Amino acid sequence: EDVVNRIAAGEVVERPASAVKELVENALDAGAKRVEVTIADGGRTLIRVVDDGWGIAPDDLALALARHATSKIDGSDLLNIHTFGFRGEALASLGAVGRMTLTSRRAGADGAQIAVSGGAQSPVRPAALTQGTVVELRDLFFATPARLKFLRTDRAEAQAVGDVIRRLAMAEPFVAFTLRDASGGDDRQVFRVDAESGDLFDALHGRLAAILGRDFAENAVKIDAEREGFHLTGYAALPTYSRGAAVAQYLFVNNRPVRDKLLIGALKGAYADLLSRDRHPAAALFISCDPQLVDVNVHPAKSEVRFRDPALVRGLLVTAVRHALLQSGH
Ligand code: ADP
Ligand code: MG
Repeated sequence: EDVVNRIAAGEVVERPASAVKELVENALDAGAKRVEVTIADGGRTLIRVVDDGWGIAPDDLALALARHATSKIDGSDLLNIHTFGFRGEALASLGAVGRMTLTSRRAGADGAQIAVSGGAQSPVRPAALTQGTVVELRDLFFATPARLKFLRTDRAEAQAVGDVIRRLAMAEPFVAFTLRDASGGDDRQVFRVDAESGDLFDALHGRLAAILGRDFAENAVKIDAEREGFHLTGYAALPTYSRGAAVAQYLFVNNRPVRDKLLIGALKGAYADLLSRDRHPAAALFISCDPQLVDVNVHPAKSEVRFRDPALVRGLLVTAVRHALLQSGH
């Protein structure tokens, strides 16, 4: 069982940033309005995620660590994925490859903690905590040292963590996010965004200004289009706004950050003759649709997607973005 966990863990958790992604997604799944992440040494020695979500009851702590026990997949439901988590593997995997403590408190219950290290679980014990969950993961991959060799510099890993948080923060503008770096006994704030308010477009606009800069937000056009069950929303930067070669493309499918060739290609297509060749479009775009119309389970890291009708999605994106850009007089 330990060996199975460790092998599977490599699929789910490739690097600190993938651990952070899983943990923050869990916090968001639990309805958190505030998520605070602390890392040290690029996440290798410490990843801590604190949230104010609904927590886990003491009796469910051990279950939360069990592989697949919590999976919302039951075969027939494979494509019907509404929340971020759907494989029930993240905590089991992280507990198999690192030293993890999971401390949580559900409303109306007492706080409790469970620890797991290299797959070995400790008994549940009482712990003091206000409502929410704290997951602390130390010494990631200590149990699978071969994995450590694939990691890049602490700086590069920390950047990847920052990138994951920024993407998730764009997808959840009503949630406050903080990233701190505690390397070398420091405690440095790397990133912070407060919860936005207003309607979704207002909130997203505010969040994009906070993350990508006022310059982006003030030079972006609103995208809001629909075609055959696919909804496309977000902001796309005017061709005149450009940060040279720096790519700022943030794409989401059913609120999950994705890096998808089809969507990136479509975005490029929308700007085709509007941008000079050495410039890249900048945009934050969200596609939402019935989960039946897209398979997000292509890769365990969940960053690629497969649409049932790729041409339809491509057409929607190209047409809607192009139309909005041309309408704005550019
Ligand atoms: P999945 O998210 O796919 O269900 P995970 O291994 O990521 O699997 O998490 C297992 C379960 O533990 C979740 O389904 C949830 O019930 C619980 N859980 C994990 N993290 C949190 C959290 N931050 N707040 C509340 N519950 C959590
Ligand atoms: Mg999960």
